[in-house]
Amino acid sequence: MLMPLRCRCGQVRGELDLAGAHARATCYCRDCQAFARFLGGDGLLDARGGTDVVASAPDAVRITAGIEQVACMSMSPRGLLRWYAACCRTPLANTSRDAKLYYTGLVAACLDAAPAAVDEALGPRDRIVANAGSATAPVESSMLRFLAGGVRIFGPVIGARLRGRRAGAPFFDAQGRPLREPEVVSRERRQALQRGGPAGA
Ligand SMILES: [Zn+2]
Ligand SMILES: [Zn+2]
Repeated sequence: MLMPLRCRCGQVRGELDLAGAHARATCYCRDCQAFARFLGGDGLLDARGGTDVVASAPDAVRITAGIEQVACMSMSPRGLLRWYAACCRTPLANTSRDAKLYYTGLVAACLDAAPAAVDEALGPRDRIVANAGSATAPVESSMLRFLAGGVRIFGPVIGARLRGRRAGAPFFDAQGRPLREPEVVSRERRQALQRGGPAGA
């Protein structure tokens, strides 16, 4: 089953193959918060600063239109690659810099489906939480839930690596190079974004 992806303005479109969507999680890490502020859109973070992410197999994510609008940034020279639609600054996904690491954290904000349909297909958003320690308000969480989520997230990653499946799609080329040179923000700007500074700071 496929779920459509769409940036806010509609130039970037794609689909997520739900067979390759392993777990839905809310990440409260400071860099995910900083990424949302870098993009500057309302509604990207929940009330506690969480980002709704779907841990997916890279080849379960397909871009079918607007690939020329896909842009890349990173919070540090070795940080995750954070992909977004430059046309309207909609987040798309987070990936490792290593195309062989078989993991794509699709940002649920680009899912083009009603919230109830997303819940039904992927489970409720707060069932698995990561990095709750840096949430902006207390998060009800148990280590057990996080561990269970971690296993579900990383199990397929390791398995796919052993099987040598095609990695990195659609954000890397056949040689494993990122589709775009990431814009790496300065340390000062990263810190300002983590603190909640304006996107242009
Ligand atoms: Zn757009
Ligand atoms: Zn995060």
